[in-house]
Amino acid sequence: MARVFRRSIFWLVPVIVIPLAALVVIQYRFLRSLETKTISAERSWLRDSAERVAGDIDQYYRTSALRALTIERNCLCQDGVLAAHFAQTPVDGVRTFFVVHFDGQHAYYSFFSPVGTPKKLPGDEEQAVKLATVSWHVAHKMKRAIPHPPLSVDERDLENRIIMRPVVDDDEHVLGVAGLILDESLARSAMIDIGGRSLADHYKADAASLRLSIDDYLARRRDFASQPLSFVFTNWRLGVKDLCATPEQLGAISFKHNALLGGGVMIVLFGAIGLAIQAASRQLKLSQMKSDFVSNVSHELRTPLASIRVFGEYMRLGRVITEEKVREYGEYIEAESRRLTQLINNILDFSKIESAQKKYKMAEEDIVELAHDTVCAFAMPLRDKDYGIAFTAPAAMLPPLILDRDAIAQVLMNLLDNAVKYSGGNKNVDVIVSADDESVRIAVHDRGIGIPASEQKKIFDKFYRVSSGLVHDVKGSGLGLAIVNHVVKAHGGRVEVNSALSQGSTFTIVLPKGEAAAVPSPKTNETEAA
Ligand code: ADP
Repeated sequence: MARVFRRSIFWLVPVIVIPLAALVVIQYRFLRSLETKTISAERSWLRDSAERVAGDIDQYYRTSALRALTIERNCLCQDGVLAAHFAQTPVDGVRTFFVVHFDGQHAYYSFFSPVGTPKKLPGDEEQAVKLATVSWHVAHKMKRAIPHPPLSVDERDLENRIIMRPVVDDDEHVLGVAGLILDESLARSAMIDIGGRSLADHYKADAASLRLSIDDYLARRRDFASQPLSFVFTNWRLGVKDLCATPEQLGAISFKHNALLGGGVMIVLFGAIGLAIQAASRQLKLSQMKSDFVSNVSHELRTPLASIRVFGEYMRLGRVITEEKVREYGEYIEAESRRLTQLINNILDFSKIESAQKKYKMAEEDIVELAHDTVCAFAMPLRDKDYGIAFTAPAAMLPPLILDRDAIAQVLMNLLDNAVKYSGGNKNVDVIVSADDESVRIAVHDRGIGIPASEQKKIFDKFYRVSSGLVHDVKGSGLGLAIVNHVVKAHGGRVEVNSALSQGSTFTIVLPKGEAAAVPSPKTNETEAA
């Protein structure tokens, strides 16, 4: 993988890394600008809400004050009628209703509570009313015509804000003034109520997350979007804030979410690129292993063939005279052709396994006898080479197993062949057959070069050969253990490996007893490999 990565670095950088880095920068800048836009969108939404609610509050005071302050001119002096009228036209936040009746130089004042009962005013309220209505008194005295008597607001005395409307006769001359004095704290809570209803009307469920505030210092609060009131309490602002998050927090949240999403996509992208490189590296390795396999197999084929040819020639030319030599050369030829057969069997089996055409001829077999015969057949050609292959049978008789005799013999041959090939000079090999309640175990134990722990899983892969240490000196196809593994699995068993570098290896075939083997019927039967 690292080698492939190093090799690909020249095209990886311009083709993937640079465009990806550019994408990350563009994405980052886009998300930053999205964050700013989110902030200003949230702010302007809050400002719009404040404007709507402030407009609704102004509208409420205009309409309710107009209704309460529209008085018939002949009622101006009738306190009882006026009281009843004010009782029926309430205005939220009112402290006092009043009516002023002008008669030449004189002005007569009547005051009423919000529920219409006559009341006496404290001095400052009375002063505020007099100050507010004095201009209408002047208009009365000058007999000025007021065509459409307007609602007007006098906020010179901030403690006593007044809304009033002149009462005119048929000639539109001012006869008097009807008005109301607003109470600051009553008006504030009334406005909050009106504002709350307005928010609920306009924004339904979203209104629950909004908080209203009305005050004169709201312009300085960054967490509130505020609008001034335009009819009465004009020095006050109405503010709306989102209880869940400020616009800045919302912007940051949106940036974080989008960045996480973008990061996730990048990780997936990098993962996909990593997987692609890994697949390419695996492919490269496989093709490397295949070419090694071809060269190894050619060598493996050529060497025994050359020996057989040489010994054959010697015999044909009559150079081998003594009986002992004939036997010796004959044994060589037999051993070499056995090797060839084993190699060719392995290759053919492997190709059948690969194309899922491998079939097993299952039959009841005595596993101890099978193992013993295989060991003897394997050991015979080696007897002059000082190899000691010891066979240990189990103490008790074993029941027959259902298996493919040739396939299991070939498995054992492959393991024995490896034990000898990788013996590293130590020529003692043990084959031990044992059993427990559920399985039969055939262990092939050598004292050779051993296998590093990191390689012990990989050696069962096709074409795989450990590429370090002494194994360089030994030729092989890399197919032996792949076939062993496949055949044993097809019999419902498993292969265990236990090895330490320079100390030797033990390969153990574990075959299940009885029905556990992959066989539907006891006698000769063909089972297709999985
Ligand atoms: P090969 O034809 O190379 O022997 P195998 O599939 O039989 O192919 O084995 C795969 C690799 O496992 C071998 O190349 C070798 O590195 C390692 N190996 C197998 N058996 C042994 C053993 N008994 N001792 C040490 N290494 C072994």
